[in-house]
Amino acid sequence: MQAFEAPASWWTDAQSSSQGTDDIVPLGGFRGTCEIHMMGADIYVEGKLTGNFELSCARCLARYRQPVSETFRLVLEPAGSRVPSDADAAETLARDGICLGEELEVGWFRGQEIDLGPYFLELIALSLPVKPLCREDCLGLCPRCGIDRNIEKCHCHEFNPASPFAVLQALKGKLKQGEN
Ligand SMILES: [Zn+2]
Ligand SMILES: [Zn+2]
Repeated sequence: MQAFEAPASWWTDAQSSSQGTDDIVPLGGFRGTCEIHMMGADIYVEGKLTGNFELSCARCLARYRQPVSETFRLVLEPAGSRVPSDADAAETLARDGICLGEELEVGWFRGQEIDLGPYFLELIALSLPVKPLCREDCLGLCPRCGIDRNIEKCHCHEFNPASPFAVLQALKGKLKQGEN
């Protein structure tokens, strides 16, 4: 078992500004453990990667700490004379000595040295939540007055026009008024 570490800048430096990831800030560095063994001509890599990010909650917009912990398992076959049909993949294989399938679990390698850095970056990117939440039951902001409902209560009327019952209730109210 091998332990490794990477500073926060390893992640930030790899992000292109066009991706709009300013919102995603690593808190401290990353740590991992990795075990590599050969099985015939194939390389088996497995281990765990952990880190922490500061993200914005999709509901209340608050900044919060999101831990990331990913276990990984990867099987790499020698690429031999095979050339990936995808131009990007072919370039990665030439540059990093590694080319991964879409599932990130199997791939090819070439040469004596494999750079797993890009693989780890991809792994972390995929582990980040699509809809970040500061907590599972975050109440979010009031759509009317914008108050953070985790902190304060507002007196805005709760009205959900999407609910047929709300419409029915309003109708009932009107009918009652008509009776009187
Ligand atoms: Zn929240
Ligand atoms: Zn409100």
